[in-house]
Amino acid sequence: MTRIDEEPTTGPTSSSATVGRRMLLGGAVATSFAVGGLALLDRMPYVRDLPIPGRRRVQLTWLADELRSAGLRVQGDEGWLERGRPWAFDPVGVLMHHTAFRATGADPQPALATVRDGRPGLRGPLCHVLVARDGTCHVVAAGRANHAGEARPSGPVEGGDGNVSYVGIEIDYAPQQPFSQRPTTAQLDASVVAAAVIVARLGNGADHVRYHAETSLAGKWDPGSTLDADAFRARVAAELARRA
Ligand SMILES: [Zn+2]
Repeated sequence: MTRIDEEPTTGPTSSSATVGRRMLLGGAVATSFAVGGLALLDRMPYVRDLPIPGRRRVQLTWLADELRSAGLRVQGDEGWLERGRPWAFDPVGVLMHHTAFRATGADPQPALATVRDGRPGLRGPLCHVLVARDGTCHVVAAGRANHAGEARPSGPVEGGDGNVSYVGIEIDYAPQQPFSQRPTTAQLDASVVAAAVIVARLGNGADHVRYHAETSLAGKWDPGSTLDADAFRARVAAELARRA
């Protein structure tokens, strides 16, 4: 029903009736059983340290506060702190997207429910931050989100499961035909600041901010041809320098 341009990932899957899985819960070893695929795990947002070798499962508990501290208008979507997919999430960069939803003054964040809840065939969350037409940053998830799919290497960021390596920012606008929207100035400015804040908190620089078009193996072109990736990174770098 939606046009959000995200890709499913190649995360662990199972269609078997019962899956045993050991995990560390605050130092204690627990075993859970998912019946009918990973349905049970999907309802265990606090589970940590799932056995994906070498990659952590972090929660971006700082996300709303950091964005707010940078002067952005931030709306924490209810439940965002507990929201996330149940596999590895160990981000080093930020991946930029557009939703392909047509935002208007009356409806500045039309994709909000979809990026939070997902769409048929792809479970939410579908990003971490949705930037509305008026520049408001809606924080929808602290954990892993389905936004990147399998990624090509891009700049300094390795290829592989992009949902492990990237925090996802969705700019809520519709650059595609027949809408041919551009992001508003407020929206673009907020997106630059949000990307800078997040990548800095991850301990990296503007080169770790990538466009989905630069990582996609499925021909994604977001966040739209009206924005140049290098120009966006230059603005992120300037923001980082200003904040230093
Ligand atoms: Zn995308």
